[in-house]
Amino acid sequence: MTNSSHNRRQFMSLAGITALGGTTAAFTGSLATSSLAASSDPGKADLVVTNAKVYTVDAHMPRAEAFAVKDGRFLTVGTSADMKTLIGRGTDTFDAKGMTIVPGFIDCHNHAEDAGRVLRYEVILGNPYAPEIMSIASILDKLRARAAQTPPGIWVQGFFYDDTKAKDGRPLNIHDLDAVSRDLPVAVYHGGGHSAYYNSKAFEVAGIDRNTPNPAGGTFDHDAKGELSGRATDNAMEVMNKFVKRPTLSEEETLLRNREGLTLISKQFVRFGVTSVAHQGGSLTALQQVRDSGDLLHRVNYEADSAVVDALIAAGIRTGFGDERVRFGATYEHICDGSFEERTMSRRTPFAGTKPPYYGNITTTQDDLNAWAERLHRAGIECNCHANGVPAIEMVLTAYERALKLAPRAGVRHKITHCTNINDDIVRRIKEIGVVPNSFTVYLYTDAEKFHLYGDDFLSQCMAFRTWMDAKIPVATGTDYPPGSFDPRISIQSMVTRTGWNGETWGARQRITVDEALLINTMHGAYYTHEEAIKGSITPGKLADFVVMADDLHAVDPNKIKDIPIVRTVVGGATVYSA
Ligand SMILES: [Zn+2]
Repeated sequence: MTNSSHNRRQFMSLAGITALGGTTAAFTGSLATSSLAASSDPGKADLVVTNAKVYTVDAHMPRAEAFAVKDGRFLTVGTSADMKTLIGRGTDTFDAKGMTIVPGFIDCHNHAEDAGRVLRYEVILGNPYAPEIMSIASILDKLRARAAQTPPGIWVQGFFYDDTKAKDGRPLNIHDLDAVSRDLPVAVYHGGGHSAYYNSKAFEVAGIDRNTPNPAGGTFDHDAKGELSGRATDNAMEVMNKFVKRPTLSEEETLLRNREGLTLISKQFVRFGVTSVAHQGGSLTALQQVRDSGDLLHRVNYEADSAVVDALIAAGIRTGFGDERVRFGATYEHICDGSFEERTMSRRTPFAGTKPPYYGNITTTQDDLNAWAERLHRAGIECNCHANGVPAIEMVLTAYERALKLAPRAGVRHKITHCTNINDDIVRRIKEIGVVPNSFTVYLYTDAEKFHLYGDDFLSQCMAFRTWMDAKIPVATGTDYPPGSFDPRISIQSMVTRTGWNGETWGARQRITVDEALLINTMHGAYYTHEEAIKGSITPGKLADFVVMADDLHAVDPNKIKDIPIVRTVVGGATVYSA
């Protein structure tokens, strides 16, 4: 690929553990300090930004030149001259010198804490931030190094693997992993989270052999000779997960790892201009401790897993409880089918070349889904289902329609995470009951090489932003990190160009404009969490979350949007990242 050296360098600087040991203070510029000091000056702003190309994402005033911030919120938006009377002795000023400013980016689906912990402590087999082609030999070397330090019985695990980004032109197999170890179980997890690759020892420990039948909603794949290939998908991976043995950690060690994971990932988010993120679960204790220590630099919409949801229901806590920094949102994604990226999503038509015909994995039943949705809906907690393919999306809509009919309530925004492949009937049903689809974007750039398997007709109905916008549905976007890069510049570029890192364009009729992509990555993200009144645009009264970019996303070659440097990221008027 053309920019691999840049990506490798970026990866090294981002993933390097030593480089990430700094405190928040190192990331907090003078704006934060003086904005606290200045808040006693009545009638004057804490911060005034002038000479900027401001894209407000507010229809009342789409473009501006300047704005003022007071007590963490936008006070006024207008021309540089308008701001003069707001500058007092304690006011900090920032001359943007013609740079572009947009609202803080919002990522509505992200496995933030898990990803941070994995980045900090585990064996990383692929580039976690941008596409990069790896050799199988380099992957096996990393696993061997970990195996050499692993005691008997403990599993050797590797993460962030991508099967279509191998120099060797083939995915890992059981023989590769047997060459890492015959005595220790070895597992390699695809970055997408819906498939993994195992060695013979791992299958032996789990009691799986070539004759083991597939569980419902999952596969143990076989090679041409009918032997286990090493790959397991969805519910078959869940079978394997039950046998995984990791070193035992004390409660305190676990908490420390969760805190360090969160601290690390928060720094990464703001480096890329991401100011609000819907987290998939994670330790609430760690989250609060990181917030208390000042290291939670972004805002969190917390999507609770089933154990926490049970506690929320018992305590009577509903979606929306919390504050502007940490708020309970919908549920953790309730998995209903497989993966788009790993080619296990549910489909009406079989995957090309599969014998017997493979229609992907559906990982739940309609009855279970109905009962789950009804319970959550009645408790006032918004449902969030992971569904990529038409069959699974239709099941989810049936469950949501049923719940709303049994207990009608206005203003509910149940979610469908990914909602990748759609048709007209799905769009109609979604609009009718106010469901919010939360779609992938970055795959169009980072995973274009996988789309040959689906073809262009299919891709024209996937990540269907043109369709959502034309139907006036406030589609959100979630990167699903680690499966997708959380870089909002890649997200916007993907939506505008539909062109991959390898130059291939897929589903071009779903292209949208830069302004539409900006709207989806900001305001629609705020709508997703019912926070459109307090964030998502540069509007007086809203939280002062914004990003300074060196170039104008409207003016650069659309294929270079991803390269625009992020100069500064500000959350609630405080600088949390400065280049
Ligand atoms: Zn996810």
